[in-house]
Amino acid sequence: MPDVDGPGEDEWDALADEAGGLGAGADPAGDGGSSVDPGAGMTHAWIFTGPPGSGRSVAARAFAAALQCVHGTGCGTCPGCHTTMTGTHADVRLVAPEGLSIGVNEMRALVLRAASTPSGGRWQVVVIEDADRLTEAAGNALLKAVEEPPPRTVFLLCAPSTHPDDISVTIRSRCRVVPLRQPPAAAVAEELVRRDGVAPDMAQWAAAAAQGHVGRARRLARDPEARGRRESVLAVPRRLTGVGAAFDAASTLIEAAEAEAEASVAESDAPERAALETAPGAGGTGRGAAGAIRGAAGQLKDLEKRQKSRATRAQRDALDRALVDLAGFYRDALTMALRAPVAPVHTDTAALAAAGAEKWDAEGSLRRLEAVLACRAAIEANVKPRIAVEAMMLSLWKG
Ligand SMILES: [Zn+2]
Repeated sequence: MPDVDGPGEDEWDALADEAGGLGAGADPAGDGGSSVDPGAGMTHAWIFTGPPGSGRSVAARAFAAALQCVHGTGCGTCPGCHTTMTGTHADVRLVAPEGLSIGVNEMRALVLRAASTPSGGRWQVVVIEDADRLTEAAGNALLKAVEEPPPRTVFLLCAPSTHPDDISVTIRSRCRVVPLRQPPAAAVAEELVRRDGVAPDMAQWAAAAAQGHVGRARRLARDPEARGRRESVLAVPRRLTGVGAAFDAASTLIEAAEAEAEASVAESDAPERAALETAPGAGGTGRGAAGAIRGAAGQLKDLEKRQKSRATRAQRDALDRALVDLAGFYRDALTMALRAPVAPVHTDTAALAAAGAEKWDAEGSLRRLEAVLACRAAIEANVKPRIAVEAMMLSLWKG
């Protein structure tokens, strides 16, 4: 990976020092019984920050792999590295919130398990993706663990930034920060060609359209449905010809996000439910089975709650992607109106954006861009998505 993708060079050096020097060197026997405290000098809590798509959770996972590497180098091929990267290492726990937030019960259970001695590896590593989605109570539970970390436990948090909205000041003060930069489109395109075998033309287009988000660029390059959804979002500005059309456009956008979310969660929902329903005791009779059935029913309810919360999140994520695409369009109109020497985000709708720039001028383009950003902020602040999107469409139409 080119270094624009990851932490700055100094940070990689620091990571390598901690992973190699302390992970492997301090306890060469790997038995945990040496008289030197293996955790002495290790930083037990880290925060990887960067915008979505900058690869913060990948970087955190790579660091976790380096800590578990049998060679102490993060070679990428040994069992320690391999099982960490595939999510099956016994001493590495990956936490990705399925709902809109990570709750206190989940966090308490995690902290408890993280305090145990590593079973095979050198460290118990906990990777918390989207640490900005911790509830306040969960944050407090984590803070206690970070303040007095068990000697062999390392917490790796991922968040968009270290702003107090994303991560509490007290947790931040206990962590070492590894800031990641968003890679430029050219670097993303190169990666798509090299690693995914995407044709150069397609790679360049997808990298620009994804605005620096590596995962989104890959999806656009490889999934025709993702390209279709993007096209229908970018058709919105053209369709806004009146109040009725604005409401229609809002419905279309919301329904497209719902459909996309449904498709993405349906894949995991059904097998999860089937696994629970066929769990031991679920279909039995008799005294013992009655208790088991009650237990299974409770579990099923829990699962349904989790799945619903995951569906809500998938829907918000899908809608947010659409809004980012739309914001890119008005940003193009704005830069064209200002005759700024920058490449358009959406090359395929550049002509349309130029026509918009002509009609709206810089001021009108900016107002429309702001309407899209305000819609994102409103949804983030828990305004009902349909209401926020309808308000946005009306602003986009009226200018
Ligand atoms: Zn290794």
